[in-house]
Amino acid sequence: LDPTDDNFTPEELDVEKKLRPLSFDDFTGQDQVLENLQIFVQAANGRDEALDHTLFHGPPGLGKTTLAHILASELNVGIKVTSGPVLDKPGDLAGLLTNLDERDVLFIDEIHRLSPIVEEYLYSAMEDYKIDIMIESGPNARTVQINLNPFTLVGATTRSGLLTSPMRARFGIQSRLQYYNTELLTTIVQRSATILNVPISMEAAVEIAGRSRGTPRIANALLRRVRDFAQIKGNGSIDIKIAKFALEALSVDAHGLDEMDNKILSTIIDKFKGGPVGITTIATAVSESAETIEEVYEPFLIQQGFLMRTPRGREVTEQAYKHLGKIKGPTQGG
Ligand code: ADP
Repeated sequence: LDPTDDNFTPEELDVEKKLRPLSFDDFTGQDQVLENLQIFVQAANGRDEALDHTLFHGPPGLGKTTLAHILASELNVGIKVTSGPVLDKPGDLAGLLTNLDERDVLFIDEIHRLSPIVEEYLYSAMEDYKIDIMIESGPNARTVQINLNPFTLVGATTRSGLLTSPMRARFGIQSRLQYYNTELLTTIVQRSATILNVPISMEAAVEIAGRSRGTPRIANALLRRVRDFAQIKGNGSIDIKIAKFALEALSVDAHGLDEMDNKILSTIIDKFKGGPVGITTIATAVSESAETIEEVYEPFLIQQGFLMRTPRGREVTEQAYKHLGKIKGPTQGG
């Protein structure tokens, strides 16, 4: 779980866990990634070896953590979970590593946020399953090398650009997760509704899916909020009427764009005549880091046809003007 991702209450984290697919069969979408992983897992199981170290990258909420848990379960091994910012000192990491059983999974979320010294320490663990630990103190202090059980490091990052190249090179398997289309998200919403025991019409599931920013986590969150409306304002089941009413009341954007998405688009239109404008200029104007815009916001805006990447910078499309109800002025640079 990535508690830093969203401001979830403990109850919501519980529900999130409940909705999490537990096996390859249970996981919707990302077909190519899944197909490959299934082969690698089967091969590792057949040889009774640890799976190669695996890196998942892609925007938040697309299933990186879920896949790490699925890998452990399909490998029939245990999993230990931690995250980059939590691992302060090599000692913290040593504690985790020495407690891994053979072939276990160690999941490190936000792996781009490891401190350089912890990262360095991880290298020999990943490569040779060996670490140096300090024993005793004072004049007797010395380091000894100890052998670890073969294990699989699964790393997740939203910011693959920030991963150092030596770190990246140590992952034998690297998978990029893509945004989900409405059809896949509809399946996910229906599955979640079944688990939450709330009846939902096909039409309503499609409506929620279409407004979820291509992201299963958002789809599940919207479903839970719509369920509240259905329970209080309706008869408990979700039809298209209650779904539309709820999404309206929650002011969910028709395309599922969030506040920052819309801010980026309207800033390019209002301050830069629709572009082209450089990413760092946009970043300053919306007070967000250029990396986050590039790795979290921009991919979705481009995929949905609101934004284009040109040699001279980012440019919004007609569709962005339409979406924001803005009129296109004379083009820049003309
Ligand atoms: P990430 O680690 O990439 O931020 P998570 O793995 O935590 O994302 O996924 C967020 C939530 O979305 C999970 O609780 C899970 O219920 C749901 N989810 C993610 N991917 C899928 C999927 N392919 N099918 C069904 N539910 C999914």
